[in-house]
Amino acid sequence: CVFYRELPKVELHAHLNGSVSFQTMEKLMNRKPHLNIEHSMTAIGKGQRRTLDECFEVFKVIHKLVDTEEDILMVSKDVIREFAEDGVKYLELRSTPREEQRTGLTKTNYIDTIIKAIQQCKSEGLDIDVRLLVAIDRRNGMEVAMETVKLAEEFMLSSDGLVVGIDLSGDPTVGHGKYFLPALERAKNGGLKLSLHLSEVQSQLEESELLLNLPPDRIGHGTFLHPEMGGSQSLVDKVVKNGIPLELCLTSNIKGQTVPMFSLHHFKYWYQLGHPTVICTDDKGVFCTDLSQEYQLVASTFGLSQKEMWKLSQQAIDCIFAEEAVKQQLKKKWQDLHPQVF
Ligand code: IMP
Repeated sequence: CVFYRELPKVELHAHLNGSVSFQTMEKLMNRKPHLNIEHSMTAIGKGQRRTLDECFEVFKVIHKLVDTEEDILMVSKDVIREFAEDGVKYLELRSTPREEQRTGLTKTNYIDTIIKAIQQCKSEGLDIDVRLLVAIDRRNGMEVAMETVKLAEEFMLSSDGLVVGIDLSGDPTVGHGKYFLPALERAKNGGLKLSLHLSEVQSQLEESELLLNLPPDRIGHGTFLHPEMGGSQSLVDKVVKNGIPLELCLTSNIKGQTVPMFSLHHFKYWYQLGHPTVICTDDKGVFCTDLSQEYQLVASTFGLSQKEMWKLSQQAIDCIFAEEAVKQQLKKKWQDLHPQVF
């Protein structure tokens, strides 16, 4: 539907390596034919579902394909261009810095290269403002988490405002959030914003309670926070009291089977509460979607009008991590585009 493509949008939950499109994968596969990787190993097609475990296997395959500076530059630029073509005006990418002995890639180069891609897209005149969150993969433990925060702090100071925060992600069944508290507290005290994957799977009540005390600036998924999903009223109260926006990714949750069907998605619960929610893609490449499609899906599943969807996209501006002046610029852009879209 043209409306959702033309609707100006804000994307706040996009993992770089999960956002690689079919076309870019094709280029990567041609660069590394000896790996024998096929599209069925890097994306979950229409109507297909996987367990969350299987989803995390997909990322391992993608990481084999993206392991040089050259790959990261191409992937980042392609992803940014694709979001821009889909009508995204402000994008926060997140990615886990990796080092690869085989190719000489270091974590510093990794982040540097994404920043270079952002700057190149800007100088090419793309109509999209892009920022970066440095991601902590739970699998790598607390020491790596602390190192990651220190790296992010350095880049926050040297990247001209492009590095704005920290993401805690990775397989939610691995490790416990309590181990990451010192790193996350340090990040917060140093001025980095926090977006944490919380209650993505069931039985993370204690962890969510603990991490909510930080409190984070945004929540990824939060699928099992509310009582109807086995969460608790006290968790909901904390989220509401602190006004912490939720980043919600419908297709991802269905394909990863943490939510059984669209109509049961927790978007409904939080939207009815009038709590800030931001519609996002998570991994547009892996889950074969884009942000327009996600907006359309929310509208059709929950019977929201185009006017209500406009309001949702506009309210997402208040949830971004970039400074106040950027929010004002975006609000002006939405105002200017309004007559064109309706
Ligand atoms: P990268 O950080 O750019 O390499 O993007 C892929 C990584 O994002 C994965 O290895 C996970 O750590 C993380 N990720 C992507 N999707 C999800 C999700 O749905 N839940 C938790 N972590 C995720």
